[in-house]
Amino acid sequence: MVMTSSRENVQRAPSETPEQHASLFPKLNDAQIAQLAASGVPRHVQSREILFNQGTSDYGIFIVLDGSIELVGVLNGVETVLSVLGRGEFSGEVTQLSGRRSLVLCRACEASALLEIDRSNLRRIMQTDAALGDLFLRAFLLRRVYLIANSVGDAVLIGSSHSSDTLCLRTFLGRNGHPYTYLDVDEDADIQAVLDQFSIRVTDIPVLICRGQLVLRNPSNAETAACFELNAGIDEAGVYDLIVVGAGPSGLAAAVYGASEGLNVLVVESSAPGGQAGSSSRIENYLGFPMGISGQELANRAFVQAEKFGAQISIARTACALKRLHPPYAVELDDGGSVQGRTIIIAAGSRYRKLDLPNVEQFEGVGIYYGATQVEASMCRGDEVAIVGGGNSAGQAAVFLAGFAKHVYLLVRGPGLAQTMSRYLIARIEASSEITLRTCTNIEALEGNAHLERIRWRNTQTGSSETHEIRHLFLMTGADPNTAWLGGCLALNAKRFIKTGTDIGNEWPLRRPPYLLETSLPGVFAVGDIRAGSVKRVASAVGEGSMAVQFVHGVLAE
Ligand SMILES: Cc1cc2nc3c(=O)[nH]c(=O)nc-3n(C[C@H](O)[C@H](O)[C@H](O)COP(=O)(O)OP(=O)(O)OC[C@H]3O[C@@H](n4cnc5c(N)ncnc54)[C@H](O)[C@@H]3O)c2cc1C
Repeated sequence: MVMTSSRENVQRAPSETPEQHASLFPKLNDAQIAQLAASGVPRHVQSREILFNQGTSDYGIFIVLDGSIELVGVLNGVETVLSVLGRGEFSGEVTQLSGRRSLVLCRACEASALLEIDRSNLRRIMQTDAALGDLFLRAFLLRRVYLIANSVGDAVLIGSSHSSDTLCLRTFLGRNGHPYTYLDVDEDADIQAVLDQFSIRVTDIPVLICRGQLVLRNPSNAETAACFELNAGIDEAGVYDLIVVGAGPSGLAAAVYGASEGLNVLVVESSAPGGQAGSSSRIENYLGFPMGISGQELANRAFVQAEKFGAQISIARTACALKRLHPPYAVELDDGGSVQGRTIIIAAGSRYRKLDLPNVEQFEGVGIYYGATQVEASMCRGDEVAIVGGGNSAGQAAVFLAGFAKHVYLLVRGPGLAQTMSRYLIARIEASSEITLRTCTNIEALEGNAHLERIRWRNTQTGSSETHEIRHLFLMTGADPNTAWLGGCLALNAKRFIKTGTDIGNEWPLRRPPYLLETSLPGVFAVGDIRAGSVKRVASAVGEGSMAVQFVHGVLAE
């Protein structure tokens, strides 16, 4: 296919430094190219020939043997040349692992000789050759970070900081690592021109423009996922060895271990990978990350790792029932679909608890938040904020938000933090002049109209109340298990967490004893925060997700 595009619509990306180019586009040496030749097909292309378009899915990578190719971002018909690749350099990005749509276009700059490696060969190389696998994976991840940082892709989101649906959509795209250009109607006077171009009324926002053509007005997560084909390449027919419900740390760990040990794995996630950990600005106590890592980055890496081993991860789909078909099991989904697995790992975690005040829901997303990431932080820059909670998530949020907000009030019900928060966080809070701790304090009232405007809290010891003009309130007051969808088909404890192993008692139906993480249904396991008695930590969730795979092998061998 040859295309000579009009060069009037082409612009250059902000210039890459040679160092940036070298880390984004490492050069394969002659020995590596010779090694890869056996897994690829030689291609001779003409000048201006398109190798893949923005939006093409299920294609491989191209290694330049001679000549050059360019990677081009396309938005609203305007092309931006992002990089030009020469001998030894290769195209590719994390979409190569998932089979999703390409975010960029790739074109030959001149007549060139290339080596094309398709997705299945690429995945095999990444699984079997540690050195090349590492090189590809690092380059793919860095390129996705670059695309996100430079908003390169096929999505424009028009929203408002006064709209809770805008925050939901930004969170969904961000957590799925999907780059987008954000235009805020409240800040950008030129937005009207874009709205007019697509006949959009201000009341329709948030509006998502996909591929410069499809206009979605206030779309759901499922509509957004469908528009960007986030679930492209997933084949749900047949019976999986293992279905994992939930892609938080425990579910992603189960997917990585299951797929890397040869199991045919499907993960079903109602929102985006990362779970609760994904809403953390910085996790500092997870082994191997001495400088800390944001929950989002940890999740993105785990997601790519699971896909590298061949796990399929279905986004924006919620499990709503578990049925036993003697065996296998069927997981019924909210879109009417159903998937079958010989074994199931339930890794659906827990959901934040709400404040017991009548108008909480009125301000969710417009003043009340349950996660503290860059998105929320950018909304409260220079303002005072309040955080409710005495656990590590509240402590992390306080330290993180202190870097953006004018002042942070940390409100806790109890007399102090020592019983509920890690020492390192308490020390940082005590050392910060930007954070004020209020103990024995409860929120009494929330006031505002379209947005939260003020908060009144009360000291339960002195009985005195204070009102503050605070427009941003972060609720980090613990969580309840996501077990309602199971409809009582598994043994639960009094707080509705799933019982496993010896805790099941006489609800266990078989002669053999249950495995450590097995639920009252044989072959169905529960891991992470949803499990009764679990330690609510990333490391333990990851540990349980990986351990459960060992027991899955046991059940599959029965
Ligand atoms: C803000 C914050 C900061 C934290 N910081 C730390 C920290 O620094 N260190 C630490 O060790 N721990 C920390 N934690 C705790 C840690 O994040 C959790 O213990 C961990 O995420 C639990 O992992 P999980 O996989 O069991 O569940 P979750 O993280 O809750 O993930 C469950 C996933 O399942 C999905 N799901 C739910 N129901 C369904 C369904 N029906 N169908 C499909 N999918 C479903 C959810 O969307 C979610 O993605 C923090 C928690 C929070 C909220």
